[in-house]
Amino acid sequence: MKSRTIFAAVTAILGFAGVIAFQRAGAAPGPANPALVEDLVAANRILAHEIAVLDAYGHVSARDPRNPNRYYLSRAISAGMVTAADVIEYDLDSKPIDPARSDGYLERFIHGEIYKARPDVMAVIHAHSPELIAFASSSVPLRNMIHTGSFINDGIPIFDVRKFGGNADDMLIRNPALGKSLAQALGSKTAILMFGHGVAITGPTLPTAVSNAYFLNMNARVQEQAVRLGGSVSYLERAPGARPATGTTPAGAAANNRAWEYWKHRVSMEK
Ligand SMILES: [Zn+2]
Repeated sequence: MKSRTIFAAVTAILGFAGVIAFQRAGAAPGPANPALVEDLVAANRILAHEIAVLDAYGHVSARDPRNPNRYYLSRAISAGMVTAADVIEYDLDSKPIDPARSDGYLERFIHGEIYKARPDVMAVIHAHSPELIAFASSSVPLRNMIHTGSFINDGIPIFDVRKFGGNADDMLIRNPALGKSLAQALGSKTAILMFGHGVAITGPTLPTAVSNAYFLNMNARVQEQAVRLGGSVSYLERAPGARPATGTTPAGAAANNRAWEYWKHRVSMEK
């Protein structure tokens, strides 16, 4: 009788401890970097509402500078609707830190594999911009037309997922291997066009990635308009080694931050 009582007491204590442990393990950990999450929410709104880089599809992520092996990305909803509660924390294998968050984007491997391959990249944008998809399908290369598109002179590679075992019906980056192939094709460049699909754009900061996306799309439109005018077209060519891409210089970063503050202010007024 006595041993039964002791057994019951031990079981109760272990059970209680188990409940506590379960609650700790199962509790939503919450974002480890709330300020970065706030900026990521703003970036989603800016890209969707202010500069029209993202439509109902596409996504933007940010790497956590406090823990470079983690990045943040929204659950699978349209960028223009993202709030802080939608943001999921991932490791670089694109596995959610909270296992319950299985509601992420299918193509999250674009982000994780680029972060893995490029320690300098702190933000990634994946968009389906028509003006850029056109250049991925044309023999006319995308070339630098605007002073803020200096990074285009480094080259914008084109990736065809079908050559790497991708599905020709949807062209999606649906697994880590395809994400890795995309990151390898990107190499050290700022952006890569995805044939029949879209684009992946990077930046050393989130504001610069957003600016790069804005200017890359603008450059494509300006080039198409210039070609359509019918005369000869002059391009902005950078002398080899003359200066780094916009955003990596103090002046470029300051200009990007100025635009970022303005766009962020605009989306902060949304209801
Ligand atoms: Zn896509």
